[in-house]
Amino acid sequence: MYWSNALCSVRSEVLLLSGSLRHKPNDTGNKCTPYCFLFIREYLPMGGSVKMVEETLKLAYGENSELIKEKRIAAVQALSGTGACRLFADFQKRFCPDSQIYIPVPTWANHHNIWRDAQFPQKTYHYYHPESKGLDFAAMIDDIKNAPNGSFFLLHACAHNPTGVDPSEEQWREISHHIKAKGHFAFFDMAYQGFASGDPEKDAKAIRIFLEDGHHIGIAQSYAKNMGLYGQRVGCLSVLCEDEKEAVAVKSQLQQLARPMYSNPPVHGALIVSTILSDPDLKEQWLKEVKVMADRIIGMRTALRGNLEKLGSPLSWQHITNQIGMFCYSGLTPEQVDRLTNEFHIYMTRNGRISMAGVTTGNVEYLANAIHEVTK
Ligand code: PLP
Repeated sequence: MYWSNALCSVRSEVLLLSGSLRHKPNDTGNKCTPYCFLFIREYLPMGGSVKMVEETLKLAYGENSELIKEKRIAAVQALSGTGACRLFADFQKRFCPDSQIYIPVPTWANHHNIWRDAQFPQKTYHYYHPESKGLDFAAMIDDIKNAPNGSFFLLHACAHNPTGVDPSEEQWREISHHIKAKGHFAFFDMAYQGFASGDPEKDAKAIRIFLEDGHHIGIAQSYAKNMGLYGQRVGCLSVLCEDEKEAVAVKSQLQQLARPMYSNPPVHGALIVSTILSDPDLKEQWLKEVKVMADRIIGMRTALRGNLEKLGSPLSWQHITNQIGMFCYSGLTPEQVDRLTNEFHIYMTRNGRISMAGVTTGNVEYLANAIHEVTK
């Protein structure tokens, strides 16, 4: 009873919109403007926008990737990064039910929910080293070596959430080597391409290393952060296959999984992405804006650390500038975080993760003072 009235009013509004706007012509010819996006109400195919997927693969696999030319990649538009991970988890459950996925400790909390709800067994591997506030590389490699052959490993391609700790290029090469030696399958979650270094090409380095080494990988891509398309739910799931024939079969199965869940993905975000990425001027502008965003965050890291040192904090804050991407895993305890919230109205997750995107030239001194107060 409670829901039926509310649902009825939402439904009639939707019908009204689709009835009146659906068939308005695109009067700007082939080039879609933000204005004409308002009038597009058609379904996309089950696999989503072909153009958007094509452009998205170039970002991850490389502009001139032979793998793309050889059509070895099965790829579908997904409901942003979360949807890409979930679709892959369902794919694993259907086709590799006896395997398991290894997830880093810590990780984006939703990873655990995704693989739990897909009922695919999950285990963990060492990643963060609390004392050094960096990577626990030796323990990570041991976990890779000790996992049953042919396991799945979930890797954050760049700007690890929540720690901001990424392996170095050399470490990625070693990780790739050990994953290959054990016949594991690497699944990259790339929710922040461009947000680490400011250059999407550099941020794809880990993936490129795995490709050079001949892995078959999977990738979840998202435009939530690097295009600010959070609510549009636009992303991509891709799986690199042995050959075109296998890729056709895998794509078909991914679509089979998508069909009973959501039939087809939303259209507007995909149009925004494909319009920007297929137009060289718009793409160049986007790349510049991504760099501005990433550089601003890097600048705020330097300012936060500098302010803490200026205040005479005896603690080491080097990890603030060593870490990268949107998050700083500050090392603050839950009790210290509670004091920041209650006494200074500064909000962060209780594991001490600061969203650096919220730090500005206007509040960085205040933040540093407050952190200094609660860590004295
Ligand atoms: N993966 C990681 C590591 C994330 O941090 C996030 C978002 O916070 C996502 C995936 C998914 O984001 P979205 O579904 O909005 O693309």
